[in-house]
Amino acid sequence: MTVVTRFAPSPTGFLHIGGARTALFNRLFAKHHGGRYLLRIEDTDKKRSTQEAIDAIYDALSWLGLDCDGEPVSQSARRKRHAEVAQQLLDSGHAYRCYASPEELSEMRAEQKAAGQPTRYDGRWRDRDPSDAPSGVDPVIRLRAPQDGETVLEDLVQGQVTVANAQLDDMILLRSDGSPTYMLSVVVDDHDMEITHVIRGDDHLTNAFRQIQIFKALEWEQPIYGHVPLIHGPDGAKLSKRHGALGAEAYRDMGFLPEALRNYLLRLGWGHGDDEIISDDQAVAWFDGSGLGKAPARFDTAKLTALNTHYLKAADNDSLVGLITPGLEQNTSATVDELASSRLSAGMESLKERAKTLVDLTESAALYVRQRPLEMEAKAAKILTDDAKAVLAAARNALADLHPWTAEALETWAREYAEANALKLGQLAQPLRAAVTGSNVSPPIFEVIAIFGREETLNRIEDIVEST
Ligand code: GLU
Repeated sequence: MTVVTRFAPSPTGFLHIGGARTALFNRLFAKHHGGRYLLRIEDTDKKRSTQEAIDAIYDALSWLGLDCDGEPVSQSARRKRHAEVAQQLLDSGHAYRCYASPEELSEMRAEQKAAGQPTRYDGRWRDRDPSDAPSGVDPVIRLRAPQDGETVLEDLVQGQVTVANAQLDDMILLRSDGSPTYMLSVVVDDHDMEITHVIRGDDHLTNAFRQIQIFKALEWEQPIYGHVPLIHGPDGAKLSKRHGALGAEAYRDMGFLPEALRNYLLRLGWGHGDDEIISDDQAVAWFDGSGLGKAPARFDTAKLTALNTHYLKAADNDSLVGLITPGLEQNTSATVDELASSRLSAGMESLKERAKTLVDLTESAALYVRQRPLEMEAKAAKILTDDAKAVLAAARNALADLHPWTAEALETWAREYAEANALKLGQLAQPLRAAVTGSNVSPPIFEVIAIFGREETLNRIEDIVEST
């Protein structure tokens, strides 16, 4: 058997973090078993589904590196097939037409409520003679659900869960306008797409019983379900906007790397021993459906940030330059030309050591992009006293003859020069830093100076020495 999984988002908003995790789990499970991972856009609710939301889902999934196998399936395009299956159920006697009007049904529910009973459809058209059908009324099609016994779900995560059939009423499969309900379309699509395993949020657990009933009525093999507890906020309540539950793209904007978010989401509700840092290859090798927790995991931004710090350090320097270039150009209003790009690449090793996010990195990397004459930050301006300028003026002459121009040589020179001139290293290094970077903080200053090169460094010093 080839394992086939799917992610089936409803495009009614952005791809939230729980959806991203569902996509990841399904993809890993399929890859682990050498199977296929499919994407189905559940866009049957035309009023709430938008093309913008569909595009945002594609975008977020592709940024996260969770591309699907084959073309995504649009559920709304399969409407005819859903209606065909409803007809098949009618023909086999597993479904029937119900002509009850909305008013009649709300009256029924009011009576049930008044009698303290649960509100559910009472099966009034279940055994009624079709010749009783009122004229001019478009019926709905309902499943003739079993009334005795129980429906059993063998869940990958929850274990065995049982519901008495008496608790499930005859659900609607096809509305009076001919449109399929969610229950019917999901079952038909999962069957036609040959889905073998469904991993999804446990908010769908009760739906699973109804879906199993439809599978049984059709004598189709049902998939194996795994219902994963929803993600909670740090306070233990279900993750909501209040906790800053955002779309996956918001994490991109906050400067998280997709590999960090993948690793973080993987560990939210799934574990492999004490492993925290898990590569994509390890994830595929280990994600076999076991290790999924029954308790809801709590979203912890500090943990995500710690992972991001790790993945930033591990990332390829030139790729990081590419990732931050658009933000750099926006922040500095300067163009990242070839020279700036090569300086960024050279400085990246030190820059990334100090960054937690790409946003931090973009800020700290701006020093290699800003053009002369530099605007001094307040703290840098304070360092550049007349005395400091005098130190710089003298140092500039010494630097003009220094060979070779490397970070090590510059540092050795600075130590010797400071000692020879009765200066503390800071009395030389701090003004140099301010003059060359415009700031009082930077990566190791002699590395920065080495990267800028002699001419640029001397020009920057000159700008300061000559300013009044
Ligand atoms: N479309 C449903 C949702 O976005 C998921 C359906 C399913 O996974 O079965 O919640």
